[in-house]
Amino acid sequence: MHSPPLPGTIGVLASGGLDSCILVGHLLEQGRSVQPFYVRTGVVWQAAEESGIRRFLAAIAAEKLAPLVTLELPLADVYEGHWSLTGADTPGADTPDEAVYLPGRNALLLVKAAVWCQRYGIGELAMAPLGSSPFDDASEAFFREFSSALNRGSPSRVSLLRPFGELHKRQVMHLGRELPLELSFSCIAPVRGRGDIDLHCGTCNKCAERRAAFRAAELEDRTLYADAMR
Ligand SMILES: [Zn+2]
Repeated sequence: MHSPPLPGTIGVLASGGLDSCILVGHLLEQGRSVQPFYVRTGVVWQAAEESGIRRFLAAIAAEKLAPLVTLELPLADVYEGHWSLTGADTPGADTPDEAVYLPGRNALLLVKAAVWCQRYGIGELAMAPLGSSPFDDASEAFFREFSSALNRGSPSRVSLLRPFGELHKRQVMHLGRELPLELSFSCIAPVRGRGDIDLHCGTCNKCAERRAAFRAAELEDRTLYADAMR
């Protein structure tokens, strides 16, 4: 059994990307106790992403930051042939946001973390979708309705929250400007660099979004991009 969470703990689904890393840091700054979750779905960038979130959390270690909980949710059966598992035809820098939609993503990620929260008495579980997200499963209505469904039949309630739901990328980047954002990981086609360090490819849809986020916020981008090293 896991040790009981501190009173008032909020769970955060942390994918290792900029927004969820900033959400963890921001909640800690607000004095909250945070229980981060990483869900292992088997996507090709999982190892790079998980090591990114672990390095980021180690760098911001705090008394109120609980050790990362990893949850296993292999999707090979339902995602068979999908680019997220094969690594083939990964959406490139010139593709729209919609190109990186992962079927059922938020419902899948939320369900196991929500059950964990219900079991251990954590009353709030947050994700970091932004107001600009084009995906309906990032909407306020989805979070409200999915909360309601998940709490049916459970003696312990968990509210699903999207604290950055009304914010734009630039505002979120500013909330995180003091955090070690170079340790976060956004790439969907990582490149193995020297010393077995996973580099951002620099050319995929998510790398383009990441570079644009640093530019828009006028923050220095210390990310190691493989395409900038050639
Ligand atoms: Zn990339």
